[in-house]
Amino acid sequence: VAKHYQFMVRGRLPGGVVSPDHYLMFDRLAMQYGNQTLRITSRQGFQFHGVVKSSLGPLMKGINEALATTVAACGDVNRNVMAPATPATSRLVEQVLEDARKVSNALLPHTKAYHQIWVEGKELTLEDESNKTFVDPLYGKTYLPRKFKTAFAIPPLNDVDIFTNCVGFIAIVENDKLVGYNLIAGGGLGMSHGNVQTYPRLADVIGFITPEKVVEAAKAVLTVHRDFGDRTNRKHARLKYVLEEKGVEWFRNEIEQRLGFKLETAKAYQFTKQGDLFGWHEQFDGNHFLGLYVESGRVKDTDKFQLMTALRKIVEQFRTEVRLTPSQNIILANVKPADREPITKILAQHGIPVENQASIIRQASMACPALPTCGLALAESERVLPDILGRIEGLLAEVGLQDEEIIIRMTGCPNGCARSMMSEIGLVGRAPNKYQLYLGGNRSSTRLNRLYKENVKTDDLTNELRPVLARFAQERNPGEHFGDFCDRLLLKDGAGPASA
Ligand code: SF4
Repeated sequence: VAKHYQFMVRGRLPGGVVSPDHYLMFDRLAMQYGNQTLRITSRQGFQFHGVVKSSLGPLMKGINEALATTVAACGDVNRNVMAPATPATSRLVEQVLEDARKVSNALLPHTKAYHQIWVEGKELTLEDESNKTFVDPLYGKTYLPRKFKTAFAIPPLNDVDIFTNCVGFIAIVENDKLVGYNLIAGGGLGMSHGNVQTYPRLADVIGFITPEKVVEAAKAVLTVHRDFGDRTNRKHARLKYVLEEKGVEWFRNEIEQRLGFKLETAKAYQFTKQGDLFGWHEQFDGNHFLGLYVESGRVKDTDKFQLMTALRKIVEQFRTEVRLTPSQNIILANVKPADREPITKILAQHGIPVENQASIIRQASMACPALPTCGLALAESERVLPDILGRIEGLLAEVGLQDEEIIIRMTGCPNGCARSMMSEIGLVGRAPNKYQLYLGGNRSSTRLNRLYKENVKTDDLTNELRPVLARFAQERNPGEHFGDFCDRLLLKDGAGPASA
């Protein structure tokens, strides 16, 4: 009897943009071969969960037949490229998305193995037409020491958490024109509990490039990771450690040598916020978009609401473009003004309001999947966060902070998929029902939070937070946010970012 293996399958969707046809394909395959849900990831991808072994082949074929792909959504290669997905935040969103697609395509591995195995169902051969072993022009014979992450951001919105990526491009806009990008490198959040060789790190600003250099610059950073990343210790094999240990000057020289020109000095920029816009908004082109809160990124049907069914009906009927945000929510984009009302009606018929979709802290929260679908999970995350948020809502009301937006993120292990280390309150699983409690991230996602308390049980969390929130309510400066207050007062003697 075959074992009941289950798989997770992740689609590659640069910038989280999903065409109507692709959305309907993802929906159909999740219903047929997955667990009847679609999980939006914190890197703007879709994951299928609960795919049993016998469904894996048909699922992969189905994705490829619809001309979508899972290539490089996982593995020691460049992962899904992130980019701002919200149409109304800047006139440059489409242009930056186009650059993100260019980089995504340029960093794809060239191997035919994926198609041979999953599409053609042939025996794998690694030899090319002249019987020579195929060597990838970018990744070489041995690929990267570990994964590589790329993102684009348009200030003042840091919705992609740009500083947590291996390479990042910060759009520089002058007179409404994209003049180029500040190149940043060496960010990453993953660490291992108790291993001081591993730690979260924010990317360094390296220099400025013009838009036509994005692909070359991305390749230059990726090949530094390929050539200098630690291949002896997988836990220490991220580009962030190369930058930390060799220094920014060394790194800039390496990049300039690979590019064959000097980088210009980075230009001024400022991030002030993160997160998504919810409800209906007008785009610059006169069309509209709808931001929909998705609890923990899980598109599903329940007794109370039927998001999976509602989205299927909307996309079938109105051919709506779906965008996945870095905070695991959904945007229905490029909606004609006349389609607003009927779309609102379909959602209402399925229990989903477009106004006041969730409380202020729920809309700003994130959880990674963790148990039961992630093999690395040390503790629960997605399944317990709604209850924890309910308790924190009660606590906030108790101390008179019910209208305060506080960014709360939770992960089942220190790999950091839901980027807990950038939040104002971060919970990182250490063991079953034991969490490291971090405080002190900021609204613009430019600062790591720091360890406040170890091994907190979910039942003890409100008691741990009560004195801190009560003090915040009484001692905050005018307009001061919770993370800044913690960083200023509670954590000033802290040992540094996220060491555990
Ligand atoms: Fe990522 Fe860890 Fe959560 Fe798994 S448990 S999804 S590896 S953060």
